[in-house]
Amino acid sequence: MCGIVGYIGAREVTPLLIEGLKRLEYRGYDSAGVAVMLDGQIQVRKEAGKIAELEKSLEDEPVPGKYGIGHTRWATHGPPNNRNAHPHATEDGEFALVHNGIIENAGTLRKMLEGRGHVFSSETDTEVLVHLIEEVYEEGEGRAGESLERAVEAALSQVEGTYGIAVVSTRDPEKIVAARLGSPLLIGVGINGETFVASDAAAVIAQTRDVVYLDDGDMATITSEGYVVHRRGTGPVTRPVNRVDWDLDEVERGGYEHFMLKEIMEQPETLRETMRGRLLEDDGRVKLGGLEGMDEELGDAQRVIILGCGTSWHSGLIGEYMLEDIARIPTDVEYASEFRYRRPVVEPKTIAIAISQSGETADTLWAMREAKQQGATCLGIVNAVGSTIARETDAGIYLHAKPEIGVASTKAFTSQVEVLAMLTVHLGRLRGALTASRGREIVRALGQLPEQVAQILEMEPAIRELAEEYKDSPNFLYLGRGYNFPAALEGALKLKEISYIHAEGYPAAEMKHGPIALIDENMPVVVIAPKDAVYEKIKSNIEEVKARKGSVIAVITEGDTELLAFADHVIQIPRTHDALTPILATVPLQLLAYHIAVMRGCDVDQPMNLAK
Ligand code: GLU
Repeated sequence: MCGIVGYIGAREVTPLLIEGLKRLEYRGYDSAGVAVMLDGQIQVRKEAGKIAELEKSLEDEPVPGKYGIGHTRWATHGPPNNRNAHPHATEDGEFALVHNGIIENAGTLRKMLEGRGHVFSSETDTEVLVHLIEEVYEEGEGRAGESLERAVEAALSQVEGTYGIAVVSTRDPEKIVAARLGSPLLIGVGINGETFVASDAAAVIAQTRDVVYLDDGDMATITSEGYVVHRRGTGPVTRPVNRVDWDLDEVERGGYEHFMLKEIMEQPETLRETMRGRLLEDDGRVKLGGLEGMDEELGDAQRVIILGCGTSWHSGLIGEYMLEDIARIPTDVEYASEFRYRRPVVEPKTIAIAISQSGETADTLWAMREAKQQGATCLGIVNAVGSTIARETDAGIYLHAKPEIGVASTKAFTSQVEVLAMLTVHLGRLRGALTASRGREIVRALGQLPEQVAQILEMEPAIRELAEEYKDSPNFLYLGRGYNFPAALEGALKLKEISYIHAEGYPAAEMKHGPIALIDENMPVVVIAPKDAVYEKIKSNIEEVKARKGSVIAVITEGDTELLAFADHVIQIPRTHDALTPILATVPLQLLAYHIAVMRGCDVDQPMNLAK
């Protein structure tokens, strides 16, 4: 998620917080804010938009102080506006907090706290934390040894979800209390009694290179005397001080040369985030909070239309195969740019699904408006919370894949396919097309994806060698069948977007109706051929390519000795449910495209003519 920085020491805090937040800008964010302690009062300043807005507001009206906390937010709950920006404070301004992550039981906690008289001023999940800490603090007041740390610890024991937090309070001043679970946090150990807390070393290394990484379940207290770390529920622990030896430029891409590579590599984590709290393996069901209360409409639907552009259109195609195969609903996938201009007919009881990473893709937005106007129920599959598509659809499912900065989409694609698989299970169960036991198989396979993708990413050095061998080819053909026909389109799109090599994706059986004319020893053909329902069919297509001396790079299932012997090169992926094979097959193709582009000297993060 987004950025946290905190400081306690002798210098003016606000400029240090702003500097730290700016170092985190590269991660993408939608609003920023600070809470600074002065004369026993917490002053909160926050602005939607860029840090420059916040700076302007602080220039007009400075907030001096010696300690405080700051945040850049990437909205997950509630649109990006001033009210929802962090820090969040209690009504009387005695507690303030910044948070990265998602509080899964925020709804229940909020109801409980409202029942006890707390008044909320934002739509975020985060705000429950600050009220909960106040509530717990007040319950314990008068007890010897009551402290902010104790209140934070007791409050966190009631919380489900992920968090990195930093908290300040006028009740127990001169300290910042931090805690983490599933969201990174570290302490920056400065000189002359200065201490920092941050979600990313980038925020502090201009000031200090000595950092202490907190583990999940750790809490820390930061004062002008230094810092103490302890484990929740046990006691103090010593964590090693690490010397950061990279420079800022590298840190900003998390040590990776490009955002695209970073985003490819973080897919085990993003796939996990997308599924967090949503899989009900025992029941063979999924829980999609955004679709609550819609069972009747979804159960009754006669048709699905999926709207998208580019990579999102590809994930939509995989969605079509899943929805028809597993949930048995007639489904069409439309290029949003065509749909909006071609006087489409939308039948009654249609669900339109708009897919867009940013939630702002103009064609998709307008296509969705057209479908809505014709009476469709509109769902959104979007990464950016509070974006226009998210606001205008009737309901939706967020990816929770964190900001995607690389122009060529990678992690958003795999999360989109994952969401479509979850939606398929939901609809399939709802409509009786999917039995509990088949539902369980898919849910179990979904749960295994993060580990399997991590295993594929370990093959990066081998894929780099493959890239070396093929980097000078002027053309590429990508073939797949069934669920992996769209994966072939996506593999080809990645390559052409960033390396400018001409690449085409085709359903493998279509090859003989045209593209086969292009095949000779100079044409590399990437064939996605896992052991799925169409394996035997695609094997014949590989024979056809080999008969014409084409050079075959096959993506195969581990242990498939037949294709291992037959193809010129193989990339082995673990076995999974047929419907999920495109997720595993796409990851090595992203790496192949990335390395070829880098070797050809292309700027992969800012490819010619493309923007995010
Ligand atoms: N879930 C929180 C929110 O929507 C925190 C988001 C973040 O990590 O920036 O406000």
